[in-house]
Amino acid sequence: MFNPTNHEFEKFENKVWLSSPTMHGSELEYMTDAYQTNWMSTVGANINEIERLTCEKIGCKYAVALSAGTAALHMAVKLAGVKPSQKILSSDMTFDATINPVVYEGGEPVFIDTEYDTWNMDPVALKKAFELYPDAKVVVVAHLYGTPGKIDEIKKICDLHGATIIEDAAESFGATYKGKQTGAFGNYNAISFNGNKIITGSAGGMFLTDSLEDANKIRKWSTQSRENAPWYQHEELGYNYRMSNVIAGVVRGQLPYLDEHIAQKKAIYERYKEGLKDLPVSMNPFDAEKSVPNYWLSCMIINPEAMCKQVRGEQEVLYTPEAGKSCPTEILDAIASINAEGRPIWKPMHMQPIYRMNGFVTREGDGRAKTNAYISGGLVGADGNPLDVGMDIFHRGLCLPSDNKMTAEQQDRIIEVIRACFE
Ligand SMILES: *Cc1c(COP(=O)(O)O)cnc(C)c1O
Repeated sequence: MFNPTNHEFEKFENKVWLSSPTMHGSELEYMTDAYQTNWMSTVGANINEIERLTCEKIGCKYAVALSAGTAALHMAVKLAGVKPSQKILSSDMTFDATINPVVYEGGEPVFIDTEYDTWNMDPVALKKAFELYPDAKVVVVAHLYGTPGKIDEIKKICDLHGATIIEDAAESFGATYKGKQTGAFGNYNAISFNGNKIITGSAGGMFLTDSLEDANKIRKWSTQSRENAPWYQHEELGYNYRMSNVIAGVVRGQLPYLDEHIAQKKAIYERYKEGLKDLPVSMNPFDAEKSVPNYWLSCMIINPEAMCKQVRGEQEVLYTPEAGKSCPTEILDAIASINAEGRPIWKPMHMQPIYRMNGFVTREGDGRAKTNAYISGGLVGADGNPLDVGMDIFHRGLCLPSDNKMTAEQQDRIIEVIRACFE
């Protein structure tokens, strides 16, 4: 239980962010290049160069720079041929941008519960989902917080059912699974250069593929689907999704620093792990034998027996402070009180009001009835029983300040505050 009067925790003068852009100078040079050569549109050397460099890094044949990771996912959903009312098996505990593009096309996401080993889609629940939805043909899978999911097992199940994989590697650029980069496993793949990702263009994303035909389609669709004619001729619906050459300049300046950022994020993860090791908590897990995360966000989860009572409604939360125990809400409040930014775990999609009618599958099978009973009860966690894996991690976990400009001294103070929560 955190008692601010018992502790002399000084506030940081400058806020310590969850994850903010880290610039190096070369970004400005490439942006200036675009300006001085007047390539101030969606064509130019910066775009060509970051597409080449990203292919080199990921090990894919083609990359198409787009205005956002969400745009890349939308194009992937279009390529997968998603039709209205089609059931799409999707990661559940993720940012809603993973799911939105499915809905743009009228698809109906069915959410697959999470596993405890990597906090990603549970292959056992996915297998179950194919039993319940034998006609499912598309799976959207994300790698949360930069930790690769169990992609081999997921791929095996998808292959068995002839299902297409859309891989959302927005958070995991640079992370590997069995030596292969995330973003290279799916049929259609997306990464993001959003402002809080491991490297950023301030905005932007990329569509990745080994198919020249698909890459060409995305180049066409993302520039309003112009046909090869002397005038504006259109046979297909178009989008204005191409990345600007100015934004590409920022990405171009950032790309050489990806490995440095990963090393900094890893050091942050290790420092939390060491500093919190004797508390009843653990860090967001990964499979060290199969994968190397990019450590985008450091997260922690509290052991069930060390949780004080915490109840979350749709918009507000209550908790009861208790000696020797804590909860994510208390820790987030304590961290905020010294001017540092943490964040709750992504609230699972199957619990979002917008998706209350959508299917949800756990290892046991259809999880919707249990969920709806809870939702109509209005409170989650009231009896301390985990609803499903995703809601359990949401209930007990949180994201810690993971900014790579945070100093060791700042991080140590945050660790002290977390420790005080368990006094
Ligand atoms: C950031 C993010 C996206 C979307 O990327 P944008 O570039 O912000 O559109 C998609 N999925 C996940 C999991 C993300 O974290």
